[in-house]
Amino acid sequence: MQLYPLFADLSDRPVLVVGGGDVAARKTAMLLRAGAKVTVGAPLLVPELREWVRQGRIAHQAGGYQPGWLDGVWLVIAATRSRALNARIAAEGHARQRLVNVVDDPALSSFQVPALIDRSPLLVAISSGGTAPVLARRLRERIESLLDPALGSLLQLAQRYRTRIRARYADLAARRRFYDWLHDGPVHAALRASRPIHAQRHLQAALTDDRQLHAQGSVVLVGAGPGDPGLLTLRALRALNEADVILHDALISDAILDLARRDAERIAVGKRGGGLHTPQPSIHALLLEHARSGRRVVRLKGGDPFVFGRGGEELDFLRAHGIAYEVVPGITAALACAAYSGVPLTHRDHAQSVRLVTAHCQRSLTTLDWADLARERQTLAIYMGVSQLDELAHQLMAHGRAAETPFALIENGTLPQQRTLTGTLGRLAALSAQHAISAPALLILGEVAAHADASHWYGQLLATSTLQHPTAVPHDLADAA
Ligand code: SAH
Repeated sequence: MQLYPLFADLSDRPVLVVGGGDVAARKTAMLLRAGAKVTVGAPLLVPELREWVRQGRIAHQAGGYQPGWLDGVWLVIAATRSRALNARIAAEGHARQRLVNVVDDPALSSFQVPALIDRSPLLVAISSGGTAPVLARRLRERIESLLDPALGSLLQLAQRYRTRIRARYADLAARRRFYDWLHDGPVHAALRASRPIHAQRHLQAALTDDRQLHAQGSVVLVGAGPGDPGLLTLRALRALNEADVILHDALISDAILDLARRDAERIAVGKRGGGLHTPQPSIHALLLEHARSGRRVVRLKGGDPFVFGRGGEELDFLRAHGIAYEVVPGITAALACAAYSGVPLTHRDHAQSVRLVTAHCQRSLTTLDWADLARERQTLAIYMGVSQLDELAHQLMAHGRAAETPFALIENGTLPQQRTLTGTLGRLAALSAQHAISAPALLILGEVAAHADASHWYGQLLATSTLQHPTAVPHDLADAA
């Protein structure tokens, strides 16, 4: 081992930072968080450091470096621009047995500052001994995303109750069970939901009655986004990491399921391109069965669970049965397809609103308010409409939307096989048939859709309106691609 790891208690201990620039300010900020008594030595200070001096949070040694600055300090950080000066500070510091860090210079340093994940009181520190700072930074990002921000509050709460927990669960095995419950159960969930009082009540209840510890299952309704795993939220990723069971829509990609805990049970439910179909009551029954057996269930849905996802019904059902739940939003197809085809959904000049509309069954085609939908100065994002494009276009034009209104039809949005077809409303059905566009596809209709021809950046573009947009890929080229 090249380095001995340690966590230093610097509260109220004098520390010297030499240098008055941005790097010195960053190091000082970190030392202040740890409660150190910082003196910054430098002829000139950046405004941030000057402000801290003015507030009395740090002391300032003005002028050039003096060896006397090293007197009485526990640690030294050299953050000047001159390597020669940094080397001198290190040499003189080491002669006095001070631990010295020269920023970004492991060879001159006797201690290094690790990459840090802060969920105080929990600290995760990573060091590559100065050999691979990029790797250390990447690891930090990975771990940062795995540890939810509520973890710090959970540990603080546990710290406050530590003596009572020890007294109530004196036996080591029982105490382990308690702490597992603390992390996996309702206390942590309440803190994630920003309900500290609830969290405390759950904890207190478990201190009077250990039956509380019997695992209470819960359900997290998670939006998986449109397909690109990069569009999952950090919360979604953490839920997948912690799941015992995942009930997922049949269309959720393997790339996303691969991110889940390896030993989580996976159950495909819902529609699979016209084939298998799990009726909603069976999904409800599965949710209930798994949650009641004390498991952490993730109900993973495409896009957002509350946009044409029947998430509301599932929530009503869970509430009626007393099952705890959380909801993690996902990026809905309209937002994702718009972004991945370069279409802004609103525009100062020609779209002051955007409407999410479903056209998935005969009933919605007859119950939709076509006159309203045909209005100008709005963008329509139409879900589940591929099989009805003819009727859709017909109704919109019959109610006054111009045949020249631009559209962008995005198939398999955000997936490697994404295709974007552009054109005008009058030719929508014919063009879609010509290119054999199939589900899942999302239709964006309105002036904004014309932006796809020029701003498109992902996947394949099938542009059919190049005349109006000279920068677009020529029709025959796009078709040949
Ligand atoms: N809850 C989902 C929508 C479910 S309805 C969401 O918020 O996105 C299913 C419809 O969503 C599909 O018929 C299609 O219109 C649209 N859709 C879902 N994923 C899509 C994708 N990757 N590309 C294009 N459209 C998609």
